[in-house]
Amino acid sequence: PLEEVGADKARVRVVVRVRPMNSRELERNDRTIIQMENDCSLMVQGAQHNRRFTFDSIFRNDSTQEDIFQNSGIKRLVDMSIEGYITTCFAYGQTGSGKTHTMIGPGGASVFRMDENYRIKHFGLVPRAINYLFQRLREKSQESHSPYYIRVSYCEIYNEQIHDLINPAHTQGLQVRGSVEDGFYVENLFQTYIETMDELLTILEEGELNRAMASHNLNDTSSRSHAMLSIQVEQDITESENSTEQMTRQGKLIFIDLAGSEKVKVSLSKGKQLTETNNINKSLLTLGTCISALSDPVKRAGHIPYRDSKLTRLLADSLGGHGITLMIACVSPSNSCESETLSTLRYANRAKNI
Ligand code: ADP
Ligand code: MG
Repeated sequence: PLEEVGADKARVRVVVRVRPMNSRELERNDRTIIQMENDCSLMVQGAQHNRRFTFDSIFRNDSTQEDIFQNSGIKRLVDMSIEGYITTCFAYGQTGSGKTHTMIGPGGASVFRMDENYRIKHFGLVPRAINYLFQRLREKSQESHSPYYIRVSYCEIYNEQIHDLINPAHTQGLQVRGSVEDGFYVENLFQTYIETMDELLTILEEGELNRAMASHNLNDTSSRSHAMLSIQVEQDITESENSTEQMTRQGKLIFIDLAGSEKVKVSLSKGKQLTETNNINKSLLTLGTCISALSDPVKRAGHIPYRDSKLTRLLADSLGGHGITLMIACVSPSNSCESETLSTLRYANRAKNI
């Protein structure tokens, strides 16, 4: 019998969200290949085989944004970031599987331009989590009478280059610095203090506009880059007013909308685009390699190749250090996506063992 590790102790929590069929899939009369067995287990009824997968939680195609916020484990990440931990939530899956919908909302930041009722219903995890963060910090600072600060940075990793999405003019050659011991960060990335939800929404909206515009014969750029929103939570925890030393506690909450995980048909990419393809796959491949190594008790003790890509360096703290991670694997229910869905579920399955 398996020893049950309490979900609240797990360092990496992996959940799956199955989106509804889209209109194209419905028009084609695609078949639904995902059958839910219970809240944690699903069956993929493939053309050849049936395969069962088990995760910490599975969200059916009728689950709401609020369901995901309440039950994915994101609240625990927010709470831990307030306690001073580095926490990361990332969405993984093929293009069109619902990553941005889950993180930000339907149509990405355009959800922010809708009316209040629509927003309350459709906001994704990021605005809900930040709302909760503000609420918890306000409560805490009322108890302790000490101030807190929230600093935000927003960047994308595209073709192994980092672009500042808040201040795109100052984006030349941004580098990842640091070490596994002390943590990695993007040097010179613009950081801005926010005090309200509206300020965050403005940043997300402008960031989306600033995402590289170069389009492509295979896919649009935003589906080929990793967008990383980093929320630094800083609290003054100086013990008394006449204390000589000011003490602060710093935690971090990172959200990453990963590039589409689909295999790019290399035959269609040439020259610059082939380099892009390789580099995009490089970050995701390295992430997969790091996850595999971390999930193997023997390899875990050895070398983890964080340094092989920008994305994995930036994730090293939360994957391998003391932080915690929430992975949301997004999949389509359609038979037309069978091989990508299986590959997403296998990737997610490995992450479970970290
Ligand atoms: P990705 O970011 O993975 O490429 P999107 O989040 O843009 O995918 O989703 C593709 C389309 O499917 C969008 O129009 C989105 O609103 C819709 N969609 C995704 N997930 C859901 C869901 N759970 N419920 C309803 N519509 C969804
Ligand atoms: Mg997207």
